[in-house]
Amino acid sequence: MIPPGETIGILGGGQLGRMMAMAAAQLGYRCHIYAPEAVSIAAEVCGGFTCAAWDDAEALARFATDCAVITYEFENVPVAPLVHLGQVRLLPNPSALETAQDRITEKQFIESLEGTPAPYAEVNSPADLAAAIAHIGTPGILKTRRDGYDGKGQWRIMSPADAKNLDLPDKPLVYEGFVDFIAEFSVLLCRGQDGDVRFWDSPVNVHKGGILARSTIPAPAEVLEQVEAARVLARKVADALDYVGVLTLEFFATADGPLVNEIAPRVHNSGHWTIEGAITSQFENHVRAICGLPLGDTALIAHGVEMRNVIGDAAENWEQILSDPANHLHLYGKAAARPGRKMGHVTRLILK
Ligand code: AMP
Repeated sequence: MIPPGETIGILGGGQLGRMMAMAAAQLGYRCHIYAPEAVSIAAEVCGGFTCAAWDDAEALARFATDCAVITYEFENVPVAPLVHLGQVRLLPNPSALETAQDRITEKQFIESLEGTPAPYAEVNSPADLAAAIAHIGTPGILKTRRDGYDGKGQWRIMSPADAKNLDLPDKPLVYEGFVDFIAEFSVLLCRGQDGDVRFWDSPVNVHKGGILARSTIPAPAEVLEQVEAARVLARKVADALDYVGVLTLEFFATADGPLVNEIAPRVHNSGHWTIEGAITSQFENHVRAICGLPLGDTALIAHGVEMRNVIGDAAENWEQILSDPANHLHLYGKAAARPGRKMGHVTRLILK
């Protein structure tokens, strides 16, 4: 066990790190952020900040000397340089990063555990794309294999003609058939160092423009009936990776059962509702897990919960939001409201 008072290193400096650090502080831990950006909204609430490139061996080694355990809040951290962290334990272990960073590796891993991803094909040339479309059909989505998030690095292809007009990026790609889903939902779990697994209630998630807009609990019946099968797979993923911490799997609920969209080896936007809506939040349980403490109860404490993101430069009336006692407002302290940027979220508890 890592005793309170010790320092937790966090790779990545965004809002997930910020909320993780706030939960860690409650348990008496100090946090140290490592991020390449000069301004970090996570570092603003932490005692330590190393601003350095992901491949700066010396900076990584120096950062590690200050940490009792290291975790990450960003799944695109390059894996190779992490050897410079030396003997300090990195949790969840980097094989989770390796698996989730490449969409094809991720889908093959899911298939090896008897899960089903969206239909897909590897694309490295215009000929591959034409073959993928002939095999899978349209509509579909062409995605970069690596470094995509929040709908970035994606092109919708509505007809074979769209593909002909596309100037293919010079990166490994994957073509996915567009899934005719009933709804999207996520499975959020925390696995402790002893293999103990706890699930939170699964929210139904609505995306706009590839970005999460809203997560609602309870999910409708047609989603709830698919949650058990999705949990079985999520537990297999966690066990196979010998995972420690919070793990999220995003699913499409379809007429043929749950299809996996993505594995996120970290705390997740669709779990922000757990801060007020569950006995123990995803952030606290992640800290407990990586520090070897007993996991907290994940039970829902309200009749229902709705979390909505505050995105980009949308006009919001903070006073109006705060004047409703059911609302909890979280703002991340980001300076410029760029379109599509996650600025904060509002959690609304439905008490009865
Ligand atoms: P991603 O970044 O891959 O998680 O995609 C972001 C969002 O785009 C998803 O949550 C879905 O709403 C939508 N999306 C991505 N891939 C597919 C797909 N194959 N079929 C249908 N919708 C998709």
